[in-house]
Amino acid sequence: MAKTILCLPGDGIGPEVTAEAIKLLECLGDDFGLSLRIESGSIGGSAYDQHGVPLPDGTLDAAHAADAVLLGAVGGPKWEALPYEVRPERGLLALRSELKLFANLRPAVTYPQLADASSLKTELVSGLDIMIVRELTGGIYFGQPRGVRTVDTGEREGFNTLVYRESEIERIVRVAFDVARKRDRRLCSVDKANVLEATELWREVATSIGNEYSDVALSHLYVDNAAMQLVRRPKQFDVIVTTNMFGDIISDVAAMLTGSIGMLPSASLAADGKGMYEPIHGSAPDIAGKGVANPVATLLSVAMMLRYSLNEARLATLVETAVERVLNDGLRTADLVPEGGHPVGTSQMGDAVVAALRDLSGDIS
Ligand code: NAD
Repeated sequence: MAKTILCLPGDGIGPEVTAEAIKLLECLGDDFGLSLRIESGSIGGSAYDQHGVPLPDGTLDAAHAADAVLLGAVGGPKWEALPYEVRPERGLLALRSELKLFANLRPAVTYPQLADASSLKTELVSGLDIMIVRELTGGIYFGQPRGVRTVDTGEREGFNTLVYRESEIERIVRVAFDVARKRDRRLCSVDKANVLEATELWREVATSIGNEYSDVALSHLYVDNAAMQLVRRPKQFDVIVTTNMFGDIISDVAAMLTGSIGMLPSASLAADGKGMYEPIHGSAPDIAGKGVANPVATLLSVAMMLRYSLNEARLATLVETAVERVLNDGLRTADLVPEGGHPVGTSQMGDAVVAALRDLSGDIS
């Protein structure tokens, strides 16, 4: 039976990079016999412009019904002055929450071909392969109460709440241990247990779950030290598990180790196997509409979709191999090329990956 993929291009460079992913999905259908039905919907600022809300009911219903969701990016200066509840980013947070996508997997892999594009020395990052597992539906981004209030002195005070239940910690830590089991069996749990009670509980629960995974080496780091270690000696890490906010921040640090945020995919998974797949970058308003965005993060997000939601690990590996072949051929988008170089555009990069994938179909038939 055909699997339904809901594509939500969103704002800024979102439609440009998802267009390349659609080409890739069509190639998987035409040349590899993958039976897919691709639907599209609106989210973010463009949804607000059309429907007055960043997550229309129709999009949410279609996302519930789909086997997997592919998202571009949301947001941009046009919508920054909107009330908080209807900002583009609220639509994305609501979608993650409605689909109960509590586990965010963010690989940070440095391709040897791109090691010199990293801001760190080549020897520190070449061969880097980290998986960051970020809790996505809890913590300070969702905790209540939250807001801005006026206190007795007439001054305004902003406040948010960091809250984690044991069950929320347990389920994300288990995902991370399971991921570590399929890799190098090393898991580092990142918290701020010396200052924040909620993450003291995080450490306690992680340690307790660790007793069930004696084949995985569990370590703990405070988030400030983890940030430092990521730029000091990043290859010491295999899998990292952490809270929503800490994961948001350290995964962007890890992104820069790899050369460009335009290379990094992500998967957000629910307990029922539903997944949403998106590049970790935002809508990049500074380059939107110019046809220069790097589509590889979105193409690699399709690979993650194949692996985690469509049960097509073999095709996932082929997509990753196609990306590597294109990099080997020397093709680079502007984010990966030093000043004065000769970058290719978004659609040229996408076409090259699709062509490389099509070539691989000959290898397996
Ligand atoms: P950003 O990731 O959009 O851009 C940061 C920098 O990286 C920019 O210089 C941009 O040009 C570059 N960049 C990003 N993706 C690229 C790609 N594929 N190819 C080449 N260069 C790329 O982050 P930002 O500027 O902080 O945010 C812009 C908007 O995106 C904001 O409205 C923000 O809220 C939103 N945002 C959305 C998401 C999401 O949809 N998941 C994530 C982060 C930010």
